[in-house]
Amino acid sequence: MQIEGGRSSCVPVPGRFAMPRDGAITFDDLSPRLRMLRIVCGKCGRAGRYSVKRLIDRRGCDGKVVDLLADLSADCPRHIANKFNDRCNAHCPDIPRVM
Ligand SMILES: [Zn+2]
Repeated sequence: MQIEGGRSSCVPVPGRFAMPRDGAITFDDLSPRLRMLRIVCGKCGRAGRYSVKRLIDRRGCDGKVVDLLADLSADCPRHIANKFNDRCNAHCPDIPRVM
């Protein structure tokens, strides 16, 4: 997706939501509901807040929350250790409230 002038352009595409998205939540889904997206990992004690508008600017309207979580947890010690029973728990606590 091409973004010009730093403005996000989420132009609705007819029939777009008819496409299967594997249940993935996109930043476009969040933008009318959340201004800031909180990301927390209770195991690592990490927490961050990200502007949904800036996430759209950087990753596009179709950017998926799961991909963001994967990128953010890439340097998590638990993620690197890759232990099945002690995985990084990075998640967005606000999403169940608004979706
Ligand atoms: Zn973690």
